[in-house]
Amino acid sequence: MKTTTRVCVIGGGVVGCSVLYHLTKLGWSDVMLVERSELTSGSTWHAAGGFHTLNGDTNMAALQGYTIRLYRELEALTGMSCGLHHVGGVTLADTPERFDMLKAERAKHRFMGLETEILGPEEIKAIAPITNVEGVLGGLYDPLDGHLDPSGTTHAYAKAARMGGATIETHCMVRETNPRADGSWDVVTDKGTIHAEHVVNAGGLWAREVGAMAGCYLPLHPMEHQYLVTDDLPEIYERDTEHPHVMDPGGESYLRQEGRGLCIGFYEQPCKPWAVGGTPWGFGHELLPDDYDKIEDSIAFAYRRYPILERAGVKSVIHGPFTFAPDGNPLVGPVPGMRNYWSACGVMAGFSQGGGVGLTLAQWMVEGEPERDVFAMDVARFGRWITPGYTLPKVVENYQNRFSVTYPNEELPAARPFRTTPMYDIFDGMGAVWGQQYGLEVPNYFAQGDEPRYETPSFRRSNAFDATAREVRAVREAVGINEVQNFGKYHVSGPGARAWLDRIMAGLIPKPGRMSLTPMLAPSGRLIGDFTVACLDEDEFRLTASYGAQDFHLRWFERNAGPNVRVLNISDRLTGFQIAGPRARDLLAKVTRADVGPEAFRFMDVKPLSIGKCEASVQRVSYTGDLGYEIYVDAMDQRALWTTLWQAGQDFGLKPFGMRAMMSLRLDKFFGSWMREFSPDYMPGETGMDRFIRWSKGDFIGHAAAGAERADGPARKLCSFIVEADDADVIAYEPIWLDGTVQGFCTSGGYSHYAGKSVALGFVPTDRAVDGLKVEIEILGKMHTARLVTTPLFDADGARMRG
Ligand SMILES: Cc1cc2nc3c(=O)[nH]c(=O)nc-3n(C[C@H](O)[C@H](O)[C@H](O)COP(=O)(O)OP(=O)(O)OC[C@H]3O[C@@H](n4cnc5c(N)ncnc54)[C@H](O)[C@@H]3O)c2cc1C
Repeated sequence: MKTTTRVCVIGGGVVGCSVLYHLTKLGWSDVMLVERSELTSGSTWHAAGGFHTLNGDTNMAALQGYTIRLYRELEALTGMSCGLHHVGGVTLADTPERFDMLKAERAKHRFMGLETEILGPEEIKAIAPITNVEGVLGGLYDPLDGHLDPSGTTHAYAKAARMGGATIETHCMVRETNPRADGSWDVVTDKGTIHAEHVVNAGGLWAREVGAMAGCYLPLHPMEHQYLVTDDLPEIYERDTEHPHVMDPGGESYLRQEGRGLCIGFYEQPCKPWAVGGTPWGFGHELLPDDYDKIEDSIAFAYRRYPILERAGVKSVIHGPFTFAPDGNPLVGPVPGMRNYWSACGVMAGFSQGGGVGLTLAQWMVEGEPERDVFAMDVARFGRWITPGYTLPKVVENYQNRFSVTYPNEELPAARPFRTTPMYDIFDGMGAVWGQQYGLEVPNYFAQGDEPRYETPSFRRSNAFDATAREVRAVREAVGINEVQNFGKYHVSGPGARAWLDRIMAGLIPKPGRMSLTPMLAPSGRLIGDFTVACLDEDEFRLTASYGAQDFHLRWFERNAGPNVRVLNISDRLTGFQIAGPRARDLLAKVTRADVGPEAFRFMDVKPLSIGKCEASVQRVSYTGDLGYEIYVDAMDQRALWTTLWQAGQDFGLKPFGMRAMMSLRLDKFFGSWMREFSPDYMPGETGMDRFIRWSKGDFIGHAAAGAERADGPARKLCSFIVEADDADVIAYEPIWLDGTVQGFCTSGGYSHYAGKSVALGFVPTDRAVDGLKVEIEILGKMHTARLVTTPLFDADGARMRG
């Protein structure tokens, strides 16, 4: 056996083999895979082998498209068959909400180049005649849907990898993974120890156990899953063509032709987690006992949807486990806090996603970063706060919702509340309707009187509309208060702090007492952060950024660590409030003895202030675009600070506001937001973030690539639009039509309660990006006229924000 290697991939399921192949494809041939049994010995061998592109996340959908297109390439390369059946598939909608979701997906597919189509019930009946379309409003047809042979495909990946120089060691169980001081690993196996520069955990069903060998917790859990294969059915084998797939979210089932019969699987509500205490090492090529009880209701529903099933005998039952992360997406990338340890697990749809996972991980390892924003499957999207006790109920919830409508404003209830701030009970008593960010409870808005404490999930304007309008009014007309807990915050200190920040951030690093906004760029120039930097002292800084990107950012900081600088994550230690609105200064003046007048406390100043009993650090900035201050204190002081501000604020009409109002307020100024307008999919020039780049300061990460974008000029521009919407606003990824073709897409949008207008942000070709441009935006399948606007809807000259 080979005992030194650049990469040791642990696990020979479809995912491990895809990672191995993609590493060779990108030029690394000194790579090996170790498998404790034969290839496909985890979930892979008993998969139904179905594949599809549909995914709520646009980049995940694109990677699924990549996976599906790869199979033909793999067959041509290896001469092996993947057993492909490109039969197409239709997803049914039996409620208006589900139909809305499918229409929104179809609209996205336009600019992704996916040829999906909305079908009516009769068209569905025509292509999938065994379907009872009673109650079906329509469906989304995808010609790329199909199925394959799981084992053949895995072996094709393995052969392609071998052809690229990789070696595969089967019957080789990994017992330990031990890090060396230089960041490399000793992988201890039954056949000896392998010294590897990098380790990839593709342990599938055993990924938790393999992770534990290296001392890391990967948030995933196996679930039991069952599908049935019927006897031969004349309605199927007498057809001239193979029957397409039918996904019936209402019945939580997927159905396809299998040989001369059918195969149907269920995501049943009474689902069961498997191996809660850990996956037994002895589990091999075996199935779980049949369990008809848990799918009784699903079968009854399926009989109504496909009456043919009622007289079909069951030829075989496949019941096996596979793993899920809390949100159902894979866990991919460098594991935060570890060196050269990579995750390729939690892949619940290995045949839709395996290729994309392999490509992404290989790009990350070989080229330093993936080619697109892959946050939806980044292992860093769950922070170090995540625990097995949280993961399990979330995985169960995800399994149960696998076929549910995913609403943009939906807040899923399992395992909540978990992480709360000292304000939780106070805000709860004030009517907070809670959302969750990165495990933390955050008020979305405050219900009053007999308003329900629950926001109706919807693609259209929800029942939070009036409450949000009320909170926006309070900010714009008086003063609002909102917690600053949900910012990622970092304390950067030491004699090397300024030099490090100058290298890692593209923008100006401010002088003591001042703040700046700055993008953080990858070497490719793409945006990987959108930071506020406050200089507290010559060698002491505070950074604020997205709360949900903590591990994503810390991992980057660690990878680019500098001399004589210490970076501390203080996101949960430092908290407080922002106050915003025309009376914000009056309120601040009332609670401190310091001079906070416009000259003494300028826009973008940061100051230590005594407020009531608390020593606070106050930043004059506000994402609401209004006159505003962020007041930071130690988390232990937060309630005292609240009492001071709340009592003093009554004279000025102080009202709490939540995230729904915040998102509406930012639209008044067309402020972009992280993971919407700013993400690793975009460059600084096209998003306008280049205005914060300090080109003259010397080299910084991403300088050359961002400079090249500047020299060439971006092909597209992020612009703002006023939309003639009805009851639904832009959410994200709606196509923008110009001259009868799709030439752009939206990044986000919503309703500006201040201006009484529907607003969208999105990209159009640079040469068309002029004030007044008329476009059409497709929202939920309907065209809406929109006009490009360059003048903000509130405080266009910044007099209030800066005054
Ligand atoms: C009933 C059922 C139906 C399914 N249907 C579909 C479908 O239609 N479409 C679809 O896309 N997906 C489907 N899936 C899911 C699919 O099977 C998984 O997404 C996929 O198999 C995951 O592959 P993997 O490589 O990540 O993990 P696994 O297949 O579990 O592979 C992990 C491998 O790692 C090896 N390993 C673990 N620990 C060690 C160690 N310490 N040393 C050496 N080797 C080790 C194991 O032996 C195993 O071979 C289905 C799953 C089930 C159970």
